[in-house]
Amino acid sequence: ADVLRRIDELVRLVPDYPKPGVMFRDITPLLADAAAFAAVIAEIAARVDGPVDLVAGMEARGFLIAAPVAVALGAGVLPVRKAGKLPGPTAAESYDLEYGTATIEIHPATVPAGARVLVIDDVLATGGTAAATVALLERCGAHVVGLSFLVELEALGGRERLAGHPVDVLVAVP
Ligand code: 5GP
Repeated sequence: ADVLRRIDELVRLVPDYPKPGVMFRDITPLLADAAAFAAVIAEIAARVDGPVDLVAGMEARGFLIAAPVAVALGAGVLPVRKAGKLPGPTAAESYDLEYGTATIEIHPATVPAGARVLVIDDVLATGGTAAATVALLERCGAHVVGLSFLVELEALGGRERLAGHPVDVLVAVP
C-alpha cells in the first residue's frame, strides 16, 4: 500500500552508524512528515486485533510510536525505560548485548493483573530488547497480545526470539 512505499522513501539508510559495518535505519524523516507519520500510526492501529489496555513503547524511539498508537486504540501508554530513569518502585530485566548487558525497567504498579499489552518499537533487530520487554511484562502479570514494529531486519533473526507472540511489521528488510 501507499503507506509502505512512504516508509521505504522516508527511512534513511545510514552506513557505518553507530559503528562500522552497521546499516542504520534513521526514522526521523518519517516522523517529520505529517501525512506519512499519521498514516503509519493509523496502519499499526488498524492491524491490531482485539482489545488492548496498554501500549508499551521502548525508550526512546518506541515512545514516539507507542503514544499515538495508544491514543488511536483508546489504550494507556507504558514507557519501557533504560535503567535508572524511573523513580520506582520498578521491576527490571537485564539482557545481553554484543558487548555487555543492558537493563530495562517499568513501573509494575501501572500494569493491572492480566492487562492486555501491545509492545511497540521502531526497529526489530536482534530482538533482544523486545524479548526482554515481553519477559518483564509477563513477570509483572501482563498478557502480551502482540508486538508491532515499523521495520524488521530479518537477517538478525529477532522474530525467532519472540516465538509464541504475534509479530506485525510494516516493512521487512531481507
Ligand atoms: P535489538 O537488537 O534489541 O532488536 O535492537 C536494539 C534497539 O536498537 C531497539 O530499540 C531497536 O529499535 C534499535 N535499533 C537497532 N537497529 C536499528 C536501526 O537500524 N535503526 C533504528 N532506528 N533503531 C535500531
